[in-house]
Amino acid sequence: MSAENDSAVGEQPASKAKVPAKRAAKATGGSSSARAGEQVESAVEPAGKAARVKPAAEEPDMVKPVVKKTAAKKAASKVTASKVTSADATPPEEAASPGGRQAKAAPKAKRAAASKSTSKSTAKSAPKATGTGNADGRPLGGKPESHLAMVRRARRINRELAEVYPYAHPELDFRNPFELLLATVLSAQTTDLRVNQTTPGLFAAYPTPEDLAAANPEEVEAIIRPTGFFRAKTRSIMGIAAALRDEFGGEVPGRLEDLVKLPGVGRKTANVVLGNAFGVPGITVDTHFGRLARRFKWTEQDDPEKVEAEVCAIFPKSEWTMLSHRVVFHGRRICHARKPACGACPIAPLCPSYGEGETDPEKARKLLKYEKGGLPGQRLSPPPDYPGQPAPPLGAG
Ligand code: SF4
Repeated sequence: MSAENDSAVGEQPASKAKVPAKRAAKATGGSSSARAGEQVESAVEPAGKAARVKPAAEEPDMVKPVVKKTAAKKAASKVTASKVTSADATPPEEAASPGGRQAKAAPKAKRAAASKSTSKSTAKSAPKATGTGNADGRPLGGKPESHLAMVRRARRINRELAEVYPYAHPELDFRNPFELLLATVLSAQTTDLRVNQTTPGLFAAYPTPEDLAAANPEEVEAIIRPTGFFRAKTRSIMGIAAALRDEFGGEVPGRLEDLVKLPGVGRKTANVVLGNAFGVPGITVDTHFGRLARRFKWTEQDDPEKVEAEVCAIFPKSEWTMLSHRVVFHGRRICHARKPACGACPIAPLCPSYGEGETDPEKARKLLKYEKGGLPGQRLSPPPDYPGQPAPPLGAG
């Protein structure tokens, strides 16, 4: 939710990255795993390219038609004749899918190999299926990825992330929409951890919009100082409190068009509040989400609103909020801005940007953060299913 300092805002996708043959084997982790506006939602399902996407259960079909028979035969004979030296010719969807061509072709190859008696050990030495494609968005094999294939890959990434982070959640501590709204505004240019360490004092001193609107600004500044930009943030949150008191009866409104009228509140903040305090689906494009959406080749846009619109068109509305949490979790823990831990990334086989970061498994594991790295999380009061340690209070350790 925050625009953290450790993240590169507006970062461009990598121009090139090699995809070594053994990368799937190197990846750790267990998973084999509009614009929130109505116009975008309607474009997702019933019309446009995305409307032709089959439901998840049909996804194995997506890899059917890719290979010509002759190519398959050649591939099989190569296995028998010599070691399989590269999986670079493996198209992306198949490489990623147990039901894909890679999986179907393997038994053929093994049969052919067995018939020539030399290949049992050869087949064993074959590298596992590799990833989806090159960093330029082209799948291995040279053909550009179709929009349909990208949508299917994107949805598969979402499902895999759901297995990796079943406990994904907003990483700001809050008990009601007012607290979430203030915490989200305070999270600009700092970490959620620092916000969570600061807000208990703020919420205790000013539990309602009326209390905060009537506060002494210098006292508010002193409380929120650890979050940085404390004067501007004090003006924002006191302005929000006054607007809530004067225009919304002291309540946080549950509509995007009302929220964005509040001082200092943009679409990102509004979507955080709607998705997590009101149950209204929304995609939150913070620095992590934007960076990963570009690395996944879901979009090439830098502008958060355009990223939001394009990603909304890929996924069903019901997935928007949790997709945001999963992607942000992944960006904070594994797919970091400067040095993504590709060698420890469970979705590496689906990622066209594999190789942008550290690919050595041992070195990559050392880059993992929060619970994936055995470290405390960002929330002082995490949800009960969070597998890591709660964050320490301000000043501790
Ligand atoms: S760490 Fe990021 S860039 Fe590397 S494989 Fe994973 S998702 Fe792709």
